Amino acid sequence: MVACLPGLSIIPLAQYSGARAYPVVSVGDTVREGMIVARGQGRGSANIHATVPGRVVRTVSWKGYGSVNDALVIRLEGSFEKLGKKEEIFPWEGLTCFELQRIISEYGIVEMEGSGYPVSDMISSIRNSPEPCTLVVSCVFDDPWLAADRLLCQERIGAVAEGALVMSRAGRINRVVFALSRGERDLGEALMAASGGWDIPASLMLAGSHYPQRNRRELELVLRRYAKKESIELGSLLVLGPATLAAVHDAVKLKKPILDRYVAVGGSAVKMPQVMKVRVGTRIGEVFAECGGFVNKPKRIATGSPLQGRPVADLDEPVTRISYAVFAMLENRMARGRAQKCISCGECRAVCPVGLDPEELYKQTLRGLSGAASSRVSARAGTVYASPAGDRGVPASGGCHGCGCCDVVCPSRLPLSACILGDSGPAGGRA
Ligand code: SF4
Ligand code: SF4
Repeated sequence: MVACLPGLSIIPLAQYSGARAYPVVSVGDTVREGMIVARGQGRGSANIHATVPGRVVRTVSWKGYGSVNDALVIRLEGSFEKLGKKEEIFPWEGLTCFELQRIISEYGIVEMEGSGYPVSDMISSIRNSPEPCTLVVSCVFDDPWLAADRLLCQERIGAVAEGALVMSRAGRINRVVFALSRGERDLGEALMAASGGWDIPASLMLAGSHYPQRNRRELELVLRRYAKKESIELGSLLVLGPATLAAVHDAVKLKKPILDRYVAVGGSAVKMPQVMKVRVGTRIGEVFAECGGFVNKPKRIATGSPLQGRPVADLDEPVTRISYAVFAMLENRMARGRAQKCISCGECRAVCPVGLDPEELYKQTLRGLSGAASSRVSARAGTVYASPAGDRGVPASGGCHGCGCCDVVCPSRLPLSACILGDSGPAGGRA
């Protein structure tokens, strides 16, 4: 289903934890659909585009990703240049890697599966590295909240595959591995068929389908085993998902920025959960309204998945380029309540997918010893990622990737992952 176009779009000038973009339009200006409204300022910052034609009517403060930033409010006016028009195809095969990167940068393509980090910066990191690099096309759907990515894969498999080829050329990547959950073999075979005739090797790897298989550390462990079995050299890994690769395709082949995205809308409080195609900048409240509204007042609203999602404080918050899911729950199972003393039950150790001892890491963090201690208790292989951030996807302490499994099982309601990762102090926690 395609959501109605928003009468008012809210376009934040910082759409992830990186640097904000610098606005190039002012209140009162008219903007066209797809026009740059803010320019990225160096590394970590991407261009931002108007997703509807209209007029900038005001700026508002928007709190997200750890800081307060400005957002442009655009009132829908005038006609669309892209929506409903026949798409023009631009041949890209003859372009150099630098030209491809420049286009990807100009159209503000960011990683859409979580981090929002600019893809152009990833390309620079990869191309400047002396190490060979493998692009991992991650279609591991280990979480029902990834329904939007699955639908996009089914509907735009050709664009996803071609986006992978564009990325390979832009980053001078040596190999592509399509990583899919075991239940998605058909999708994997379709991707392999689309890669027939490529001048770089492509292969299919089937991974598990249980959370948190998609997390980069888990994925890398499976990939390293696969590479050993197949006797192939992976080098460093650039892991990208289908939405990002389709956006790379659209930028280079259609000269189109990210104007909309698939969003899974659901949760026990939502009357008609569904996957919708939503214009970036649409208010989250409008998205819920398109799904029939709430059956009852929700106790928890967030974007992302229930385990790692970011709380939504205000229904006027917009859907951004990285909002793959929004949900509203009648119950708040994630409510921390009052933290109690650790009872050493061992539940957190039992569930940690990377074999850490969250109890011990938590206590060491409280004692201010996390650095030395974590290197002793975490013993997994090192990881190379192109993205320095990402839905807490890069290990920050002891190899913890912030999956949140330990938080969920802890009967003492200790803020384990936040404390281990240094996201927040151990408020209320007692070792
Ligand atoms: S689950 Fe919680 S209470 Fe149990 S050992 Fe881990 S930190 Fe302690
Ligand atoms: S959040 Fe907890 S369960 Fe997940 S990797 Fe970190 S310590 Fe392990």
